[in-house]
Formats: sequence, structure tokens, C-alpha cells
Amino acid sequence: MTTTQTSAVQSLEPAALDFAALLSDRARRMKASTIRELLKLTQQPDIINFGGGLPAPELFPLGDIQRAANAALERYGPAAVQYGTTEGHLPLREWIAAQTPGLTPAHVQITTGSQQALDLLGKVLINEGDLVLVEAPTYLGALQSFQPYGPQYLEMPTDEYGIDVDALEELLKAQRRKGQVPKLLYAIPNFQNPTGRTLSLERRRRLVELSGEYGVLVIEDDPYGKLRFVGEELPSLYSLSLERCGDPDRSHIIYCSSFSKTLVPGLRDAWVQAAAPITDKLVQAKQGADLHTPTLTQMIVAELVQDVLPRQIERVRVAYGERAALMLAGLREHFPQGVQFTEPEGGMFLWVTLPEGMDTVALLPRAVENRVAYVPGSPFYAQGGGANTMRLSYSNAAPAQIEAGIAALGATLRSAL
Ligand code: PMP
Repeated sequence: MTTTQTSAVQSLEPAALDFAALLSDRARRMKASTIRELLKLTQQPDIINFGGGLPAPELFPLGDIQRAANAALERYGPAAVQYGTTEGHLPLREWIAAQTPGLTPAHVQITTGSQQALDLLGKVLINEGDLVLVEAPTYLGALQSFQPYGPQYLEMPTDEYGIDVDALEELLKAQRRKGQVPKLLYAIPNFQNPTGRTLSLERRRRLVELSGEYGVLVIEDDPYGKLRFVGEELPSLYSLSLERCGDPDRSHIIYCSSFSKTLVPGLRDAWVQAAAPITDKLVQAKQGADLHTPTLTQMIVAELVQDVLPRQIERVRVAYGERAALMLAGLREHFPQGVQFTEPEGGMFLWVTLPEGMDTVALLPRAVENRVAYVPGSPFYAQGGGANTMRLSYSNAAPAQIEAGIAALGATLRSAL
């Protein structure tokens, strides 16, 4: 290379940018999860991992998905892979609307996973500093979605029946006296992530009443509701609110659900049902986010909802019920005195509380040495705490692994005590 060529190359070198200084305030509010780093430790192949929270892949209806994809391509031709409407594939929205009396497709917005619903709802509802009520603990992914929009969290106390509605009422009264009634409440009434707890019917009714009395919008996140393996199905907050107000356009409840846990997560099909002024705004927000959820995957799901989905739900419910029972039996046998755990009636998780003073973050490397892993509970609290808690998922482990893993975790706990 000649001297002139070298200097020309040098002059094209960009000045070093301070990327961090260029970030938006919104981006600065996004936090790298220390837990995510810690969980890399648990990704080794010979570890029994109760941390992940993934559905059971051996139950995925792969043959049905393949047939549905072929059927959709034959039925719709190029339209199956053309741009689609932001609202979503109409036959799928019609099917969803038909599940709830009085609902129309105008009240249904398809989203790319419920995770997108949480992000879009954060975007259209949360101003910086807005008060948002969340369960303590709550779904970490919801906190991640809302965080960039700058909410101020208020934690609602919970017990074995979910949100303590009396404590919530006191909190709302106190906020009203201060002239600061929260705008939004985020709740997971069925088999909550992370605790596995279910909100009682009485509390559901009271929560709906309170949302009306105080004018609080409620996001009801319900990806697990169909996966009940013990007891009777309870009405959603959304359906209770429709019973009261009789009109989807007057409901205070924004209901989110997903095909991720009932069918498969990788197709990324989920939905929001809410008053039309909310779904109309979500359409605008979604246009800017991804134009629409992939056309073909929506068509695949629409092909499957009639026959395959009910069968699949039954299969998953039975399998998770067996796995939960095995895990609970293991906890009773192997966990030391003084350790408490929830007994879920459905879903994928249970929640363990160790004696006060124990630290599940510090304990994780010792568990991993014993070839077992979990998720420490503290990141699920919007305002910190929960150092002595952990989430265990039974959905993604074979029965033999559940027995061996819980024995190993029990041994880890006994040696730490
Ligand atoms: N909400 C809750 C409570 C969840 O547990 C999850 C997934 N773990 C989601 C939303 C997001 O699910 P998806 O985007 O796959 O629909």
C-alpha cells in the first residue's frame, strides 16, 4: 500500500463514539439482568434445570403444525406469506371473540406473544412517573416491558390466595387521600408466574369492584388459565367485569392471553381483548413495532384451534399435573423443616420460601455443583426483597429428573442450613 492510500484509509476511520452517551433515557431504564448472567451457569447439559420456565417440547404437536402449515398455504396461497393486517388474521380474531359472549373481533388484537402485548400496553398507557400496581412478586418480563416507560411501582401484598384485596383497598384509599390514585394494575390471577398461586373467586370479584371504584385500569395477564389440573376453573376478571357492565367497551379490564403455553411458544401468537379505544390505540402502536404478527403462524394457529388445541390442552394439563404432583412429593420428602412452598392448581411453577436470612442467589452455585438449578426469587420483586425465595418450574423436566433434581436440591438446602 502506498503512503497516499494509507492516509486516505486513515481519514475514513470514524471517530470513536461514546455509545453509552448516545442512549435514550428510555434505553437507560432498561437493565441487564444479573440473574440472566447467573443463569448461564445453569446451561450445562447435565444439569437438571428447574429454572427455565419452558413448556415441555416432547408434547409439541409437530405433525399437526406441519399439516396446518400445508393446509394454510394451500388455502390462502401467496396471501399466507403476504403482508397482513395489523389487527391480525380475521378468522383467528373471530374464534377468540367467539369464546366470550358479547365480544367482537374489534375488541381483539393479535400480538407477537403476550410479551409484545405488555410492551405495547406499556407504550400506550404509561407516562413517566405513572403509578403502576404490581403483585409482590410478579412476572419479571412484565417489569422489563414496563420499565422503559418510566413507571413508579406500587407493590400489592399477596398471600396464598393471590393479591390481598383488603390491603389493596387500604393502599388505594391512602393513595386517594394523597391525590395519587394509580392508573394501572397488572395481575396474573391464574397460576401466577412466579408463585403458581391462584386468585380466589371472592377476591376476583372485589378486585373488579375496586378497579371500578377507583378508576384503575387492570391488565389481566392469563397465559396459563387453561392449564388447570386441580379444582374448578374460575371466571376471569375480564368476564366478571363484563357481567357487571355488560359492554366490552366499558370494561376496565384489559385481558391478555397466548397460545405459547397451550400450543407452542415459537409461533409467537397471542392476543389482547379490551375496549375498542384501547385496541384501536394498540393497532397504531403495533404498526410502529412490527406491522403485524407473522401471517403464516396466525393461519397455522387458526387451523388448529378447533380440534388440536383442546386435545393439546388436555395433554399438557395431565402431564403438568403429574409433574407438579411429583415435585410436591419430592419437596415433602427431601426439603428440610422450615421451608415453605406453594401448591399450584395449574400452570408451570411453584414458589419456595426458605427460612429468613437465607439467600437463594448465593446458594445457586452450590446447587449447580449438585447438578440442579432454579431461578432466585428476588428479581420478581419490583422493589427488591425476596432474597430467601426461588421459583421452580416442573413443566420442562422428565419425571425421573424431577425426583433426582429435588433430592439434589434438598441436599443442597440441608447442607446450607
Ligand atoms: N406473561 C406471563 C405471566 C408469562 O409467564 C409469559 C411467558 N413466560 C408471558 C407473559 C409471555 O409469553 P408469550 O410472549 O410467549 O406469549
